[in-house]
Amino acid sequence: MKHVCIICGYVYDGALPFGELPDDYVCPICGVTKNKFEVITHNFKEAFLKINYGLYVLTTKDETRDNGCVMDAVMQLTDEPPIIAFSINKVNLTHDMLLNSREFNISVLTNDAPKELFRVFSTKSGRDVNKFDEFTDVKRSSNGILYLSKFINARLSGKAVDIIDTGTHTLFKGEIMETEIFNDKETLTYSDYRKEIKYRQMFCFQCQQTAKGSSCTMAGVCGKKPDTAHEQDILTCETIALAAAMQDVNTDDTRMIGLIVDGLFTCVTNVNFDSASIAALAGEMKAERIKLGDTRTIEADRLFGGDEDIRSLRSTLLFGLRGMAAYAHHARILGKRSSEVDKWFVKGVAALADEHSIDEWLGLLMYLGKVNLKCMALLDEANTTVYGNPVPSQVSLLVEKGPFIVVTGHDLCDLKMLLEQTAGKGVNVYTHGEMLPAHGYPELKKYTQLKGHFGTAWQNQQNEFKNLPAPILWTTNCLMPPKESYADRVYTTSVVRYPAMSHIESDVNGRKDFTKLINHAIALGGFTEDRQFAGINGGTSMTTGFGRQTVLDNAPVIIDAVKAGAIKHFFLVGGCDGAQSVRSYYTDFVKQTPKDTAVLTLACGKFRFNDLDVGMIGPFPRILDMGQCNDAYGAIRVAVALAGAFNCGVNDLPLTLVLSWYEQKAVCILLTLLSLGIKNIYIGPSIPAFFSETVLSVLVEKFNIHPITTPENDLALILGKS
Ligand code: SF4
Repeated sequence: MKHVCIICGYVYDGALPFGELPDDYVCPICGVTKNKFEVITHNFKEAFLKINYGLYVLTTKDETRDNGCVMDAVMQLTDEPPIIAFSINKVNLTHDMLLNSREFNISVLTNDAPKELFRVFSTKSGRDVNKFDEFTDVKRSSNGILYLSKFINARLSGKAVDIIDTGTHTLFKGEIMETEIFNDKETLTYSDYRKEIKYRQMFCFQCQQTAKGSSCTMAGVCGKKPDTAHEQDILTCETIALAAAMQDVNTDDTRMIGLIVDGLFTCVTNVNFDSASIAALAGEMKAERIKLGDTRTIEADRLFGGDEDIRSLRSTLLFGLRGMAAYAHHARILGKRSSEVDKWFVKGVAALADEHSIDEWLGLLMYLGKVNLKCMALLDEANTTVYGNPVPSQVSLLVEKGPFIVVTGHDLCDLKMLLEQTAGKGVNVYTHGEMLPAHGYPELKKYTQLKGHFGTAWQNQQNEFKNLPAPILWTTNCLMPPKESYADRVYTTSVVRYPAMSHIESDVNGRKDFTKLINHAIALGGFTEDRQFAGINGGTSMTTGFGRQTVLDNAPVIIDAVKAGAIKHFFLVGGCDGAQSVRSYYTDFVKQTPKDTAVLTLACGKFRFNDLDVGMIGPFPRILDMGQCNDAYGAIRVAVALAGAFNCGVNDLPLTLVLSWYEQKAVCILLTLLSLGIKNIYIGPSIPAFFSETVLSVLVEKFNIHPITTPENDLALILGKS
């Protein structure tokens, strides 16, 4: 029996009966789940789904009231005279009123029409409500009938000149008396309506793994559910409203800025899946705003609506702010703030509520890039002041027998507190994912129970944590929906949350009590024998700790090596890792880099190659791990210092940036690089879905951004051999 996807019309006709497909089967065309498929009982149904047409609101009136409904079946019959035909279901009140009045308006809907419009004109009846009490963007034409003044591109006014009874429907033949064109927007089609409005449960396109490379509309590929997405949209609207209210009364209240920072960070991919805590944070923000005497509301529909290029620029600003908020959050925890960064959070977030020209939006994005550099500098200063400058360190992938805890995420302060509290308790601590660079910091590595590293990057956690005899602490954005096999061992802290998982709060002084987590580790007992684990290429150790200070301290050696031709090129291969197999590009790229080149790296993208032995260059390993994603600041400092030493610009150095992106911190780092005028960046594994064609073409034209192709092609192009 064939099944059809009611969203896109795809027909499943595979060898395996539809009912035996796995529960997580999704439509290969539009990505919706199994429950959006229907059995095809009549052949015509499948064919009818292939017919596409526009969508319209038909309006008419009688002596006492106005009414209207959505219709789809409209066609032009002749030009001269201007005759159209349209069909209306007899159950509609509009149908009965039109039979009497014979006069109508047709509003041609555009593809920015919101779901609310359809709720009013499609699911409600004029017998129960006055639809124009709920939808008020209307005007009257010269025939005295209302038409929509928003979300349309044209209006046609006419008279019914013939009527044909077709059973359930009536076919009206209408003569058009007057028309009006309002704009050049695209007319909404029925297939887009089904995909984007009728069955849309949510909208999110902020990360690289977004569904079909376009947007998550039924559920997040990351595991985010529609109700969580909805709460995040409300939280974002509250964040914007609070910033705008603060701007109006000219306050830079620290607590309110802290709420804005956490409101943004909470919405970063893989941070918070807990709708209740998101709603609570939005409520806190609203209460602060009301104290400022502000009562504005910002509609969630506005966040990702409107003109495609403006939506793209607004989204880029929002996502860049979310990424920057993660860095500001960590710096604030260590007591580092700057008034410039704080002021920008208020200004930048408030700007999301306003209309701007394309040039103004681009100016805001470049400004975000500049302030983000300062924000990353703050965090760098905070980390190196509190934990010391990282030093090169070899990190083992061996997990010793006995109780242990795995810590993942980016928050070094959480790790430090855990190390203090596990000291002398016989519980070892292992880093996971982005926590690896912690092994380079003197004030962290001095704890002997900080033994080594477990696992690879975030996207492998559901396999790596399966049946692990230890609890895991998530400190920042790396959380995937936990599998049952380890769900009872999940601990979250700070803005990270998942429903029903253990959460550790800080007290008023920022201290956290990890006793429950430590006791859990002791109760689980860990492995009974030492276990040797490996990276994705089979290596059993990794190096880290080549922070900016180590590299700059060795600048004379590096400069001499470049001058002598021993180092011909530097690559910065870094960024986020992710699940898609195309990310093997980065492994292959590093493997193919010539022996007389050095590979700087940072962030979790390095797990694609950081267990490889690619040899040494002078006194250094060829792969130099500079740290977490926030240590992009250190890489920029090194690039600027090298440019100074060679008396040239950064773009003139034998240096190429080959970036992998996944979430929003990559967005603010990219904007920082662009704001510094850095060109020729290679970016992959795909271009952000939120870059419109126009925005992408501006970036390509101004900054010569290259989407990655193959390691062979890109290396040949970079090294000038093609
Ligand atoms: Fe989809 Fe990414 Fe948004 Fe999750 S964060 S819903 S995967 S776009």
